[in-house]
Amino acid sequence: MNPMHLLSGAIALLLGATCVAQTAPAVLPGPAFPQFSSAAQINAACTAGLSAAKKRVAQLERRKVDAGWLAAFDDYYAFQEDTQYPIEFVLNVHPDKAVRTAAQACSLRWADFNSSYGQNEKIFRALKRAPQADAIDAELVRVAVGNFEDAGVALVGAKRKRAKQLLDQISELDQQFNKNIRDAGVKVAFTQAELKGVPEGALAAAARDAEGRYVLGVDYPSYGPVMQLAEDGAARERMWMAKVNEGGDANLKLLAQITRARHEYAGLFGYSNFVDFNLRRKMAKSGAIANQFLAEVKGAVVEGERADLLELRGAKALHLGQTLAATQINRWDTSFYAERVRRERFAVDQEAFREFFPPQESLLFTMRVIEQMMGVRYTRVAADLWHPEAQAFVVSDVASGKPIAQLYVDLYPREGKYNHAAVWPLRGSATRVGRTPTAALVVNFDRKGLTLDEMETLLHELGHAVHNNLSATRHASQAGTSVMQDFVEAPSQMLEDWVYDKDVLKLMAAVCPTCKSVPDELLAKAVAAKAFGKGSQYGRQHFFASYDLALHGADVPDPMALWAQMERASLLGHVEGTRFPAGFAHLAGGYGAGYYGYLWSLVLAMDLRGEFKADKLSPVVGQRYRSVVLGQGGQRPAPALVTEFLGRESNSKAFFEYLRK
Ligand SMILES: [Zn+2]
Repeated sequence: MNPMHLLSGAIALLLGATCVAQTAPAVLPGPAFPQFSSAAQINAACTAGLSAAKKRVAQLERRKVDAGWLAAFDDYYAFQEDTQYPIEFVLNVHPDKAVRTAAQACSLRWADFNSSYGQNEKIFRALKRAPQADAIDAELVRVAVGNFEDAGVALVGAKRKRAKQLLDQISELDQQFNKNIRDAGVKVAFTQAELKGVPEGALAAAARDAEGRYVLGVDYPSYGPVMQLAEDGAARERMWMAKVNEGGDANLKLLAQITRARHEYAGLFGYSNFVDFNLRRKMAKSGAIANQFLAEVKGAVVEGERADLLELRGAKALHLGQTLAATQINRWDTSFYAERVRRERFAVDQEAFREFFPPQESLLFTMRVIEQMMGVRYTRVAADLWHPEAQAFVVSDVASGKPIAQLYVDLYPREGKYNHAAVWPLRGSATRVGRTPTAALVVNFDRKGLTLDEMETLLHELGHAVHNNLSATRHASQAGTSVMQDFVEAPSQMLEDWVYDKDVLKLMAAVCPTCKSVPDELLAKAVAAKAFGKGSQYGRQHFFASYDLALHGADVPDPMALWAQMERASLLGHVEGTRFPAGFAHLAGGYGAGYYGYLWSLVLAMDLRGEFKADKLSPVVGQRYRSVVLGQGGQRPAPALVTEFLGRESNSKAFFEYLRK
């Protein structure tokens, strides 16, 4: 189970202020969130869940392959969601470390069980001959058959055994990779003078060492402000070096093992590289097409990156009182000087937005946007969740008045909590049995309020939750975000742009009459500032995507050697002694050979956005989008959904216009 990640880490900060809490006497349409208060409880639930799963699989094996077989197959899928997913989720958010550790062990037991299920021949054979009622059933079979094949069910003898071994090994290595980052506990000490420029609020909670220095971690709430705001270049360099070495040599070794295992895995299926194996069922279809896409984008992206860097050099020369010729931009300079240019040239200070966007009201505002567009209503309800600050909402359909989904939200940072922004789809919709979907949205915001960047992050994440919540698929296994991986980010990326529209921001007044509204002038500056820096931003994304595809290429290069070689050829070069790939968790996990998907789906997102050009809040377009795209989940292939919504095939015109603007 992979959560949908945010593209780049959110810079989450501190403090708090709220006005209204929306509460109404409604009930959750789905089951209550399971309560786990000890490791023993997790272990017991895990054992009971796996043993019930085993029984259910045996029943399905024995079941007659009649007109009801596909529904029974999907029932098992739904059972597995309800049993496995809450445990996978609390692994990331539970306040008790013992519970998280037990959940991690349970996750590996499920990985082992699922890799065996993936090779279950009886189910595979039944699936292929199960009666299909229509195109939706046929799509379910097509995708599920692909999943079984990818798990090695059609391999013979030793190859099949090896496939399972490799899958289990990759799960374990990935888990270890992430654990190494979580447990690294890297700390960097700074004197007060070295942190000149960093707001006091960002340091208030920091520990001090014997010499009175601030001891900071490299998590985003500490890392972000230092990289963006610390005047002292040497201080930023130390912080940056600590961050890019976070996973250490241990993780470089793990990443090498993971890529070798994937290579061998692809080989079992007759593929010379993992990229072609992994992409064959995605929109991109092959490594050649993905690489061709990156090659097409490269020119526009690098041009923008070069222009940005020139601006940053100018800003640095001015800041340090030296000539442009004598000034070089280092990797630890980019965030700082980009922020400086934004403040000086566009007079935009992201911090200035916090007073307009209290966290709770910001959440209600993003929900209001969705309500307006999609014809739904969010109502907060009381529920016992994993933490007292986590909230539950019922999503109802305005036209029918019926509750259709539930959403959990966890807004603030705390010890041991997942520290980026992501959505976990906990439960998929299945209209054939009245099953309502559930998603959990996890972010880490400053209690004082959000920056406009963070508001964009919140709407992006809510976009994933909406994809899950507004899904109205017949089968759970086709629900919501169960779409091709190179499409899954598109609905969220489409919405990011909404927060830069003053008509959209006016909805804030509807949820918080006492909140001051963002002055038009400040917003206009933020829009101008946003355009600055996109060359560097997409340049880096392009680089990550290219690295990922090369790393999973036929020659299985050493991760660090490849990274250094590619980075040396980039505009900012490579800094000896840094180990960026050691912290690149996307590649160790589900985005391996799939990172290009962020840029790929951005092209689709920008094309989709065009339909809302006249009115971002249009209920007519919004509800058409809801029924044609979001509601369909994966019961039709992504390209078909996009084509139907646009009334033509998708193209990259809007994306290139945006890059060149
Ligand atoms: Zn996302």
